Amino acid sequence: MSDSNQSLTLQAPISGVVVPLIAVPDPVFASLTLGEGIALDPLGECLHAPCDGEVVQCARTHHAFTLKTKAGVELLLHLGLDTVELNGKGIEPLVSVGDQVRAGDPLCRFDADALARGASALITPLVITEAAGWQLLPSKHREGERVSLGEPLLVLTRTAVEQSNRRADGPLAERPVTLALASGLHARPAARLRAIAREHSVSLTVQHECSTGNIDSANADSLSALMNLGLVEGATLRLTAQGEAAEAALDAAERLLTTPEVEEHSAPPSATLTAAVLNKGELAGLVASPGLAIGPLVSYQLSLPAVPLVGEGEAVEMARLEEALLRVGEALAQAEVQATRQGQSAEAEIFAAHRAWLEDPDLVAAAGDHIGEGHSAGHAWREALDAEAVRLAASGNMLLAARVADLRDLQRRVMAELSDDQQEALPELPKNAIVVAEELTPSELVAVASQRPAGLCLAGGGTTSHVAILARARGIPCLVAMGASLIDAAHRATGESVILDAENGRLALTPSPTQRAEVAERIDTRLHEAERAKALAHEPAITLDGRKIEVCANIGGAAEARLAADSGADGVGLLRSEFLFLERDSAPSEITQCDEYQAALEALGGKPVIIRTLDIGADKQLPYLRLPSVPNPALGVRGARLWASHPELLETQLRALLGVTPLETLHIMLPMVSEVGELREVRRRLEVLACEMGLDARPRLGAMIEVPSAALCARSLAVEADFLSIGTNDLTQYTLAMDREDPTLTARADVLHPAVLRLIQATVDGAQGHCPVGVCGAAAGDELVALLLVALGVDELSVEPARVPAVKAALRCLNATALADEIPELLALDDAAAVRQHLSAWLAQTNHTDITTTTLERC
Ligand code: PEP
Ligand code: MG
Repeated sequence: MSDSNQSLTLQAPISGVVVPLIAVPDPVFASLTLGEGIALDPLGECLHAPCDGEVVQCARTHHAFTLKTKAGVELLLHLGLDTVELNGKGIEPLVSVGDQVRAGDPLCRFDADALARGASALITPLVITEAAGWQLLPSKHREGERVSLGEPLLVLTRTAVEQSNRRADGPLAERPVTLALASGLHARPAARLRAIAREHSVSLTVQHECSTGNIDSANADSLSALMNLGLVEGATLRLTAQGEAAEAALDAAERLLTTPEVEEHSAPPSATLTAAVLNKGELAGLVASPGLAIGPLVSYQLSLPAVPLVGEGEAVEMARLEEALLRVGEALAQAEVQATRQGQSAEAEIFAAHRAWLEDPDLVAAAGDHIGEGHSAGHAWREALDAEAVRLAASGNMLLAARVADLRDLQRRVMAELSDDQQEALPELPKNAIVVAEELTPSELVAVASQRPAGLCLAGGGTTSHVAILARARGIPCLVAMGASLIDAAHRATGESVILDAENGRLALTPSPTQRAEVAERIDTRLHEAERAKALAHEPAITLDGRKIEVCANIGGAAEARLAADSGADGVGLLRSEFLFLERDSAPSEITQCDEYQAALEALGGKPVIIRTLDIGADKQLPYLRLPSVPNPALGVRGARLWASHPELLETQLRALLGVTPLETLHIMLPMVSEVGELREVRRRLEVLACEMGLDARPRLGAMIEVPSAALCARSLAVEADFLSIGTNDLTQYTLAMDREDPTLTARADVLHPAVLRLIQATVDGAQGHCPVGVCGAAAGDELVALLLVALGVDELSVEPARVPAVKAALRCLNATALADEIPELLALDDAAAVRQHLSAWLAQTNHTDITTTTLERC
């Protein structure tokens, strides 16, 4: 803690994924009854002190600790939700009441697996239960962002007015009460007791005679004092209230303490329903993909393919296993190429990850051991992957645990190869089905999604799992982590028309006709808006202040060019030519390439098409190129640097490009340019070839801005280039030194980081008066970012074809000049989260509410 007179910083007590307090699936935390704060879904197994202070409360069941700082601020750390019911099982406390701790000192160690099995969630709230004249500043951390242990998490500042200690006068009333709460007087009822005292403006005291005969007493104003009483079910208490409403307060307190608690962890994890308790017949979950759906509930469960238990000898079974692995590997590779070609990058990455996993020697060796014990290849694979799935689930690491579904996917695929049985067919889904399952593997999701369900609900899973990514990519509303009660409930409600509200994290199993009608109307309105955007997709995107922005499409080849044209794109802003070079034994010939480029141009019917020359290296490799393996390929020979060592590749590609007609619509773009000399050299080669080919016309030649040096030297590039196009994927990676392939950094590798924005600004400034600037990285397809890019002065955006209508619609509502006025302030902010927040607030104020809602949900 940096404990100055005016500010107090709280460190992350554990590495974890940020969950806003209002999104915690427990109404007492979510409604802020205990106080303001934040929660983390832990990625570790030890909880640490977020600041210096005294331990003033340790739960009898070891799951909650309260610290009091010198300045009087009290903070409650509550390990998991409903962990009180574990009675301390799996938690080893490392401090006791009265201990002085320093920020970072361990408070307790826990077995994440045991907790995950016994509690409703591991989500760990950190709540300011007593602010003592301090005020919590809005958190800079976004939902889903990963924070590391010890990282600054929350900041409090002193408020101008010191809070006065409320003293109630008036009549005094007393009442004996026997505690009927199975889990005792823990944080949740303690918070409610405090709320009762505050609502009735009384001073409320709880007294209890302990075993030694002493009378312990706690004022309800102090949560830690209440919890420190250590009251268990059956304890006899004396409640005293003083104030005008003393009797009414005692009535409410008695009701609270004598009514057994109902399970509440399934409250909606949403901002809009924070204070509401779930209605009867509703279940809660975490929003993995936002949206609304209404339709019949369908339970989904496929059994594993049948395989023999006993093998036919080690050699035979080992060969069978290897063959099956090979076939699955090939199928995954094909699926990856296909997905990449169709611009489905999320799928492509998942297939690549699965392929890598399939090649894991430890998994194959484990299966080999089972074969050695006499089992069949299929059974051995099943056993090996079962064991690995158990290990991952028990790792306590959320990211690893989220990969269990991937492992199950590989288990099923390989077993299917080794099974004689016909694969169980996916049942046909009724229209608008809301599919409920324990878990779905990524390929099951793809299969289910092909039948266009209206929504998905999973008992397990996490918001960072591949299934969540796939559901988001397909726009299927999806709730995850709904718990085992989902499956029971689904059995009872199969076929019923249910409402999935994946905006407020709830599934209504028995909605009333009025509710159904309301939701159906909301869905209709949205469809209507999307259709309106689609209908206008072929119209130009002109901002409110009159700027015409080209919205083009990113494609992988000619096959997608038609899709781009149909989407309303004003052209192609990026054709990644490397896809033509993948999955082959040698580079495509000049003719093959020329045909492909020509087909793309024709599909666009005269609109400009930017074809990027081969961008190979780092994450994109060609087997026939045999690039030397280097320790740091992302910083090695890639993109335009390749021409020095492989001039023949460039030569053939440039000839193929020069072979298309009309050359006026063709734009050639060079990837990974880091200095103007690279561009000059290609211009020179292009000129020589064009002369050799007897051409009069010349295509335009541009450079990608993907590395900081190119952005900072944009002027010299712009003088030489006909256009510049910013590749925000790589520019973000190289500016922030965060690998774009590293899932643990995804949330932080945000284009809205002020450093990346400054480089974009430098590019636009450098190009001014020389050539236009576009953006073809994924950021251009995010409406929130797209608007800022345009305000920064970008002239063209290139996005996935499906995003064209929405991006155009968003631009038409933008006053770019007004947003440009905000830029100095945005660039001066600390980090991407602050920019996102400020930008969203500005857009919300200026009637861009829809954009901010969807974009923030996506984050
Ligand atoms: C980029 O880096 O933003 C870009 C568009 O190129 P790619 O994603 O193909 O590396
Ligand atoms: Mg790139």
